Amino acid sequence: MKKNKKPEWVDKNKLDVYATNIIDGVSKKLYKTDTVKKRIKKKDFSVNDMVKGILNNNKMILARAITLIESNAESHQEKAKTVLKKILPNTGKAIRIGISGVPGAGKSTFIEAFGLYLIAKGFKVAVLAVDPSSSRYGGSILGDKTRMEKLAKEKNSFIRPSPSGGSLGGVTQKSRETILLCEAAGFDVILVETVGVGQNEIAVRAMVDVFLLIMISGAGDELQGIKKGVIEIADALLINKADGSNMKRADLAASEYRQAFRYLENATEGWKTQVKTCSALTGMGIHEIWDMICDFETITKQSGIFESRRREQKFSWVKAMTENRILDGFYSNLQITKLLSKIEKDIKTGKILATEASDLLLKTYLKDN
Ligand code: GDP
Repeated sequence: MKKNKKPEWVDKNKLDVYATNIIDGVSKKLYKTDTVKKRIKKKDFSVNDMVKGILNNNKMILARAITLIESNAESHQEKAKTVLKKILPNTGKAIRIGISGVPGAGKSTFIEAFGLYLIAKGFKVAVLAVDPSSSRYGGSILGDKTRMEKLAKEKNSFIRPSPSGGSLGGVTQKSRETILLCEAAGFDVILVETVGVGQNEIAVRAMVDVFLLIMISGAGDELQGIKKGVIEIADALLINKADGSNMKRADLAASEYRQAFRYLENATEGWKTQVKTCSALTGMGIHEIWDMICDFETITKQSGIFESRRREQKFSWVKAMTENRILDGFYSNLQITKLLSKIEKDIKTGKILATEASDLLLKTYLKDN
């Protein structure tokens, strides 16, 4: 029998005999029997249940399917592949819109206003984030539940933070598959948000139909903070915060960009890159931006660019995925990890040439595979 614990209110000099005492609660062992554990565990959906749920726009099952896709466990990946294969015929019908901008440009405020506008028009809107720098709890975008609070409450919205996958390649692969799941679930508009760090935008451009860059008009160099090459991949620049005393500055910035675009190549063949002003706060310009996206879709579908871009994207996805798998395999190989730490030392002390080291690594890897 366990000795009773002396309560805090009993004088420390007292013996172990007193009127009241503390007894241990029910031991964890007692209530965590197998049957109870099973009940506590989340319901494990079969592939067919998952597919059915997704096609019925069940957001809880959709979220579970995305978690499955994001999992790195081999058994989950196998199941995820089967689910994806089954939902594939129901994908491809949404318009995929990439949205980027430096932190503070107003991405989440814009997405909330734009999303609510689209829902009011009768569309179902999914918002996904691609941000390899974020972690599951406390990501820099979409991780914070208080963002897009109104949009999140809508029946016809679905918001998903960035997968925490480490590498950009890993995160983008999961995001592409998540787009497919959302399409199968009947979402008409998929908004893919990313932060402006250069590489992220290029990865997102490769998975969307149209790419928008949210900017703010500022003093001095208008291009400040926007990484090189990002303006060139945008189909439209949205000069946000065109409200109050900032209106004039936004108009000025817009006309400067229009001038600059005369000398830049368009991001999409047959589509003149647009510059629009808007205010995510007042809603000014939101309607025009949607009209512009509809024009973009009509024009590029008529010219065939829309479909050919999607086909190219699919093929580059295959290549990127293969490269990722090769890299993952290489760096998780035990022989390679050992050899790498030795090579690191040898390179620093000049014992070995860089090409020799590279040859050695490759030979070791190929021999082992
Ligand atoms: P993000 O980091 O790009 O997602 O930017 P946020 O959406 O969080 O916005 C950053 C700040 O700018 C917030 O304080 C917003 O309220 C403000 N903001 C966003 N859009 C507008 C706008 O159209 N007008 C004004 N005046 N402020 C805005």
